[in-house]
Amino acid sequence: MDPQYYIGLEEKFGAHNYKPLDVVLHRGQGVWVWDVEGKKYMDCLSAYSAINQGHCHPKIMNAMIEQSQKLTLTSRAFRNDQLGLLYQEICVLTNSHKVLPMNSGAEAVETVIKAVRKWGYKVKGVAKDRAEIIVCENNFHGRTITIVGFSTDEHSRDGFGPFTPGFKIIPFGDTSALESAITPDTVAFMVEPIQGEAGVIIPPPGYLKKAKSICEKNNVVLILDEIQTGLGRTGKLLAEQHDGIEADLTLIGKALSGGFYPISAVLSNKEVMDVLRPGEHGSTFGGNPLACAVARTALKVLIEENMIENAAVMGEYFLSKLAQIKNSYIKEVRGKGLMLAVEFIPGIGGARQYCEALMAQGLLCKETHENIIRFAPPLVITKQEIDWAMERIEKVLTIK
Ligand SMILES: *Cc1c(COP(=O)(O)O)cnc(C)c1O
Repeated sequence: MDPQYYIGLEEKFGAHNYKPLDVVLHRGQGVWVWDVEGKKYMDCLSAYSAINQGHCHPKIMNAMIEQSQKLTLTSRAFRNDQLGLLYQEICVLTNSHKVLPMNSGAEAVETVIKAVRKWGYKVKGVAKDRAEIIVCENNFHGRTITIVGFSTDEHSRDGFGPFTPGFKIIPFGDTSALESAITPDTVAFMVEPIQGEAGVIIPPPGYLKKAKSICEKNNVVLILDEIQTGLGRTGKLLAEQHDGIEADLTLIGKALSGGFYPISAVLSNKEVMDVLRPGEHGSTFGGNPLACAVARTALKVLIEENMIENAAVMGEYFLSKLAQIKNSYIKEVRGKGLMLAVEFIPGIGGARQYCEALMAQGLLCKETHENIIRFAPPLVITKQEIDWAMERIEKVLTIK
């Protein structure tokens, strides 16, 4: 079928809240996807890291089929035989005490905001409606009104006010800014271990460790948004492990289902979660047995098939190859695990042109901001596949 046909339908009937590359995908397997004309591409975005396990992983697919033939949704008015097992498996894997399941990443963020505010009033003793949460410049935590309200990206905010009060914004990677921003009303500090949407921004070494000790000292809850960095992407199960810490609250989503089904979760180490009582928070689909069965298998294959170690080893290899590209317009090549980026100096027409040229060569990537290309293939990628990608990347990015 002609891709223009599908593109036309999207343009005519769909809201224009995205600007996708004009490739119409039809099928996927592992790191590969095929368009409606049968052309094959390597996926170097992985749906913003929701496809860590590779497209259409057969074991996750089986779990999805099997569970959907038994039971899909009960609502939380009743219990189901998958939810408790998922809780237990996540807690054992991540050393957490409590889990709260939601659907999208943004919902997990909203959940955690509610939980830490309530904790602030009930446990810390903050006066009514005074709770303050500290976040970072250039954060990305999702798209709800509250979340875009504390974004510093004008595109995300413009025209959507009024916003939710109670947030304070500090520079990313700056622990003295954190220290001085904390007041007696501060209930939490929420941060991404590596800022993904901002363009794979890596904080100074030891940043999270220092942040953790500042939070501890001030009775402030440390929330790590690992929706993108978590579940193997950076070469560890959770990116916090690079700093040898455990956050009080951790958000995961995206790859939690390997791309099959929306599921996110708030993981709690401290008993912050205990402040939420029946009726105070919930979601019709949150914790449904289909999502739970899919997530259980998605976590299982991540571990059993050594995808996390592979991300560490292949990430290092990919990064070293990217660093060898000869192009004087490249400002920096950086990354951790398979969360990689090439940043160009401003004013050379942007990264989008490179993404379009790479697409023509069979490689799907997406620019982030004007001047950054992110490379984040599924964690199942092999050395041969990276060599295949590098041949194309070198051809497109090399400027003598
Ligand atoms: C994608 C993302 C979110 C939002 O997740 P959605 O499922 O799109 O709502 C939140 N935080 C981070 C760090 C993300 O990368």
